[in-house]
Amino acid sequence: METVVSHYRNNERVTEFNSKYTDPVLVTSLPALEDFTAKTFTRNMFREVRKETEGACAMNTELIIQDGGKLYFKCNIFGVPEIDHVVEFDRVRGMLRCKCLWFENRGIPCMHIIACLKHQHVEVIPERLVCKRWTKNAKSDFMKSNVDDPSDSDKVLKCRLGVLGAECSRLMDVACKNSIDFVEAINVVVNTITKLQKQGENPCNGNLDDDYVVDPLVVKSKGAWCTKL
Ligand SMILES: [Zn+2]
Repeated sequence: METVVSHYRNNERVTEFNSKYTDPVLVTSLPALEDFTAKTFTRNMFREVRKETEGACAMNTELIIQDGGKLYFKCNIFGVPEIDHVVEFDRVRGMLRCKCLWFENRGIPCMHIIACLKHQHVEVIPERLVCKRWTKNAKSDFMKSNVDDPSDSDKVLKCRLGVLGAECSRLMDVACKNSIDFVEAINVVVNTITKLQKQGENPCNGNLDDDYVVDPLVVKSKGAWCTKL
């Protein structure tokens, strides 16, 4: 059982690393949109969205109704004009709905929605069509939401470790690329550790507004050492 769990955790780490620290080759004819999805979604979900993006590139899209802030499109696959899909685009709310209900079922936008974004020269997927559970930050955002749970101190400790670990990994990835950033990062880390260690030794040092007693200053005087009270 331990081997299986260890294997499972290792797979999770490898997948997480690939999602966060490697960049896929952009292959569609909508590179800006594809780049946005690569930076937003986990690698597996990015591949699924890319399939939809490739499908959108081969679609014919026509604006059929414009009603105030709402646009209605008719989409069909090139070579199959008899099957239409109607998409509603609410520009005010940044929401798109397609009759195929792919987004409602799968949590990613369908090719018809992406075709409408292409028609309107929109280069990012609207926030409402990005499910948090499929994003790269889903895990760290969940842990951040639990770092102050007063009911479970063990869970809080693990979540804090996880969040700090993720942020440290990001810092390492960014700061190792040139010497100036590296020196700045290492100074910040060392100073922070020193400050926290001092606060740990004397918690009152962390808040200068509090009244607290410190050791008296030692001054040198003629003939003998004495303390200045
Ligand atoms: Zn659709």
